[in-house]
Amino acid sequence: MEGSDGNMELVVVGSGALRVVPGRGGTAAAVRVGGETWLFDCGRCAVQNLATFGLPVESVRRIFLTHLHFDHVCDLAHLLLLSWNNGREFVMPVTGPGGTADFLEHNLRRAYVADLATRLGKNGRDPAHFEWTVEELGAQDWTWRHGDTVLRAQRTPHGGIETYNYRIEHGGRVLVITGDTEWHDGLVEFCADADGLLIECSGTAEFLRSVPFGHWHLTPEKVGELATTARVKRVLMKHLVIESWVDDPAIGDRMVEAVRRTYAGPVAVATDGLRVRL
Ligand SMILES: [Zn+2]
Ligand SMILES: [Zn+2]
Repeated sequence: MEGSDGNMELVVVGSGALRVVPGRGGTAAAVRVGGETWLFDCGRCAVQNLATFGLPVESVRRIFLTHLHFDHVCDLAHLLLLSWNNGREFVMPVTGPGGTADFLEHNLRRAYVADLATRLGKNGRDPAHFEWTVEELGAQDWTWRHGDTVLRAQRTPHGGIETYNYRIEHGGRVLVITGDTEWHDGLVEFCADADGLLIECSGTAEFLRSVPFGHWHLTPEKVGELATTARVKRVLMKHLVIESWVDDPAIGDRMVEAVRRTYAGPVAVATDGLRVRL
């Protein structure tokens, strides 16, 4: 679990998207790597699910955001407040798109000004550790080295909002976690030879054609095509939307079938709490 064997572990914290689905939280994924826990997105239920899956919020060491749609960030202020209240003793590094610093100033420091007036300097916690730092990604390609780990970010289109995918390389293993994304030719190189790919796929092609936001996302057919072309070893789909599940509970099976038409490797729809060692 610690990543101390040189490998990584992925924990799917939330496999859903915007609307409330019992048992399926909003988008969030934890990665245990190099002895640290990194959180990728912090959607609905992320705080609750982290604890449920044995990852207390104060164990999160770094946060990376794919984009600022609310289904990916709505638990972020809660996580930062609670982890500090629980004893976090470091300033939290947050990496994300342009606007991340403003989002936290408004959604956390200014929104909770009354709460913080009663807590900062008065709750036995160092006020300095309440703070966070923000690195806003501005380039198409971004690479960060931390110990034996290399993290890359790639910007791809998604409904006009600045959005990134992340590629983690550690101990000879590769894990890619996408944001929400439209098809982009650069995805093939970015996902090349990944041991694991946690990729957004909000429903079947038929479902995506039926909703106004459908063209912001990848179809299962495109996911399979990408996984084959990029020689991905295992595919997990995330970001299921409630509209598809309510009307058609078997849609997950059909999504997997659609991927299998173009991809011969293991593929599944991710579930909350799913753990994968890489
Ligand atoms: Zn989005
Ligand atoms: Zn989303």
